[in-house]
Amino acid sequence: MNSPETVQQPIIDVPTGEDYGDIREAVRRVCAAFPPEYWREKDEAEAYPTEFIDALTRAGFLAALIPEEYGGTGLPLRAASVILEEVCNAGCHAAAGHAQMYTMGTILRHGSEAQKRKYLPQIAAGKLRLQAFGVTEPTTGSDTTQLKTRATKTASGYRIKGQKIFTSRALHSDLMLAIARTTPLEETKSRTHGISTFLIDIREGLGKGLEIRPIKTMVNHHATEVFFDDLEIPADALIGEEGRGFRYILDGMNAERVLTAAEAIGSTRWFVRTATHYAKERRVFDRAIGQNQSIQFPIAQAHIQMEAADLMVRRAAAMFQAGVPCGAEANMARYLAAECLWNAAEACMQTHGGYGFAREFGVERKWREARLARIAPVSTNLILAHIGQHVLGLPRSY
Ligand SMILES: Cc1cc2nc3c(=O)[nH]c(=O)nc-3n(C[C@H](O)[C@H](O)[C@H](O)COP(=O)(O)OP(=O)(O)OC[C@H]3O[C@@H](n4cnc5c(N)ncnc54)[C@H](O)[C@@H]3O)c2cc1C
Repeated sequence: MNSPETVQQPIIDVPTGEDYGDIREAVRRVCAAFPPEYWREKDEAEAYPTEFIDALTRAGFLAALIPEEYGGTGLPLRAASVILEEVCNAGCHAAAGHAQMYTMGTILRHGSEAQKRKYLPQIAAGKLRLQAFGVTEPTTGSDTTQLKTRATKTASGYRIKGQKIFTSRALHSDLMLAIARTTPLEETKSRTHGISTFLIDIREGLGKGLEIRPIKTMVNHHATEVFFDDLEIPADALIGEEGRGFRYILDGMNAERVLTAAEAIGSTRWFVRTATHYAKERRVFDRAIGQNQSIQFPIAQAHIQMEAADLMVRRAAAMFQAGVPCGAEANMARYLAAECLWNAAEACMQTHGGYGFAREFGVERKWREARLARIAPVSTNLILAHIGQHVLGLPRSY
């Protein structure tokens, strides 16, 4: 039985092969200046890869989705996906800059013309960083609509009180997109109503009701806790209409799913290539370890899974670009990419034996980063629940 979404889908061409070859080549050139040692040093120092982000910005890659009239290159989602895929394929860490690509979509789609003119050209030029996206809260986790952060109207704007957790890069960003409840849950007609989206100027707020504290995590992701203690923000920090913020965030999620899935495809390529190379070179018991099926088959499986996941990523991007509903496909792409990435990471780690743990090989860093894809920005459980409930019509678990 087909789902309603698949029955109504129009025919859409999906490109295969090395699409956007020029962009891929240009990304590879930029990434070549950031070898494994660069990433190892950043990882060990838990430092932000400022030079890398500056290089991506100068090349225009982080402004790929900003329309030309606002200073960007106005490329389709697939082109942006290719950029992130190649960054990860080169062994670099795309997460340091990826949020800028999808958070700015909320301003573009729902912001006023004045907000677009004020922020987008500066973001495109690298003068302003919009790298932080505050959704997750300590007590509500995946159950976003139960968020506790409140924004109360004042004479000049809003006063925000509450807390976010795991907000990546907040200490390396000028602006943060965040959601807060403007109408108490008990006064709304549905739990998704009464949440608003704000563009918060971190520079203005620090020390005046905004505090950001780093959290140490398994990966160099610059995660933070963000505390709002009666932070005053101006009325024009509100994006779109008050109370419709949850809808705006959902609108942006398909792009986020596709972009982060493309990153996972790129990292999977890195793992498969690195594992294959080592399996051919390393000789134990007088033969290449890759001759053993227990080494060879997991790498082959990861490769097969990657090729299949890549097709779903391309399909979701093509549907997004065509403007047709692609929630199921974006989620499935994200799920398949996270799974093939983890399988490839495990295969690569196993292939390297003890050397997988040696930092200089770079495998353990990518392996740690790979694990995150099953949890953030969305856990694979929640994707399965989405498909179960919204595509297959199974009973809701939440
Ligand atoms: C390094 C890192 C960076 C992050 N960056 C950001 C960021 O920039 N901005 C931001 O807003 N958030 C960020 N996050 C948070 C991330 O999005 C959340 O951790 C994630 O969405 C899960 O929420 P939680 O940790 O509260 O888990 P919980 O919601 O507490 O869930 C715990 C586990 O239970 C499962 N679970 C819960 N409910 C169900 C259900 N109904 N059915 C099945 N399984 C269920 C979950 O899938 C998960 O496996 C980041 C997290 C990390 C680790």
